[in-house]
Amino acid sequence: MAKYIFIAGGVMSGIGKGVATASIGRILKSRGFSVQAIKIDPYINLDAGTMNPIEHGEIFVTDDGTECDQDVGNYERFLDQDLSTDNYITTGRVYQAVIARERNLGYGGKCVEVVPHIPEEVIRRIKKLEKQKKADFCLIEIGGTVGEYQNLLFLEAARILKLRYPRDVVFILVSYLPIPKMIGEMKTKPTQHAVRTLNTAGIQPDIIIARAQVPLDAPRKRKISIFCNVAEKDVISAPDIKSIYEIPVNFEEDNLGNRILRKFNLRQKKSDLRKWRKLVKSIENPEKEVKIGMVGKYFKTGKFTLMDSYISIIEAIKHACYSLKAQPKIIWLQAEKYDPAENPKGAYGARRDLKKDLNSLDGVIVPGGFGSRGVEGKIKAIQYCRKNKIPFLGLCLGMQLAVIEFARNVCGLKNANSTEFLTNCQQNVIDVMPDQKEKISQRKYGGTMRLGAHPCRLLKGTLSRKIYKTSLISERHRHRYELNNKFKEILEKNGLIMAGVNPERNLVEIVEIPNHPFFIATQFHPEFKSRPLRPHPLFRKFIQVCLKKN
Ligand code: GLN
Repeated sequence: MAKYIFIAGGVMSGIGKGVATASIGRILKSRGFSVQAIKIDPYINLDAGTMNPIEHGEIFVTDDGTECDQDVGNYERFLDQDLSTDNYITTGRVYQAVIARERNLGYGGKCVEVVPHIPEEVIRRIKKLEKQKKADFCLIEIGGTVGEYQNLLFLEAARILKLRYPRDVVFILVSYLPIPKMIGEMKTKPTQHAVRTLNTAGIQPDIIIARAQVPLDAPRKRKISIFCNVAEKDVISAPDIKSIYEIPVNFEEDNLGNRILRKFNLRQKKSDLRKWRKLVKSIENPEKEVKIGMVGKYFKTGKFTLMDSYISIIEAIKHACYSLKAQPKIIWLQAEKYDPAENPKGAYGARRDLKKDLNSLDGVIVPGGFGSRGVEGKIKAIQYCRKNKIPFLGLCLGMQLAVIEFARNVCGLKNANSTEFLTNCQQNVIDVMPDQKEKISQRKYGGTMRLGAHPCRLLKGTLSRKIYKTSLISERHRHRYELNNKFKEILEKNGLIMAGVNPERNLVEIVEIPNHPFFIATQFHPEFKSRPLRPHPLFRKFIQVCLKKN
């Protein structure tokens, strides 16, 4: 049977509970254990697929096509393991399963109630994953913060599991210790309150991970220990650091791995973090900087700039850079800025800045996206990269726009567009996939895109083939539109190379432009498969070329 570790959050969200969970996974895995991690999101949505990235952050996609929370991406990156739909639970999923079972008389005529039937379904899911994967450890991260109405039933599941297997369940609270400017001292009270709240749910944390701007000092550790009923050794200091990949190493400095094993009465085991430490070293000692521009639209919320929507791309850039001893500098470029129609009065900044903005960069990425906002600005940026030989990587929508740009400005198809933005477009070089048309007309949006891993055959002699060093690859998708094969001939005749094609449906998955330092665009999302110790080959090559430029 597996050991269960529940991770809950205190005081506020956004303090890195997901990365903390992923890091705990890494330090256990580095001791030779098999580890699984589950993200519980307390919302009603069955998955993250229908949510706006500004609201939710990136929608991560697994091999099996689950559209889930970005933390599942963190788990995959830190564990270096592919995960699946079973690693992701939402309130909606739990209720849907319980209701379906009730309709099938699965409860044998009983009154089906929120407690215990909802927590029981949560437990069933955890145990199913554990059995399937033969996990030694199952980490379960409960989304949100303690005290929220929404995640109570998940805490209840954790409590019941502990009641059933007292020796096999450990609770970790990831909490925040603010240092208010006017006080100038680190305050423990909010964390004390978070522990009290957890106590009212019948749960006592075994370990507290104390997130703060700076490391915890002795008086603070003592205070938390006494007031929160946790041994001083089990208060783990987790200060802000430069790179999230330092966290497993930092945790080990406070002996977290062994503290966890002790809680389960397991023998201490040596950990092997050698490769990880090497990675941290190269992060800390970059030899050069590389400036990458990201032309997107999902980063403004009020007065703040969020990068959450593009997290896997950012991480993929970092992985590639670290393996090349480089330090990435990512520049956020708001796509609307470059389009006269969307930026008539220059509210986003001067339109004519396009040249200046892009010339100062070593490379440009146009990431995925939905809807017409920002599209024309992105097309302008792509055109500039193509003409001025600025290394360019297009991802999903980024590829579709690269094709539109090429059709308009090289093939002379002046009205080329995607039917996503112009329904009655005649020069629809990007068109909705036939099976998607039906789904859209019935408003069946949830979980219906072309999702997850699909094979792609690479054409001999192309740069993509050289980069991947193999002829058949598998990459993850999330889209409804595709390059329209009716236009393949004219595009090819004018020099666009269809470097990768899906062998089952003959869909173009990669386009390239020759005689350019790097111009590759993919219909899939390579960023989802990049790992810190195994950077994605496309990103690595892209960064390598960018580095040559500076
Ligand atoms: N909106 C485009 C499509 O649905 C691209 C999607 C994406 O970038 N993930 O095909």
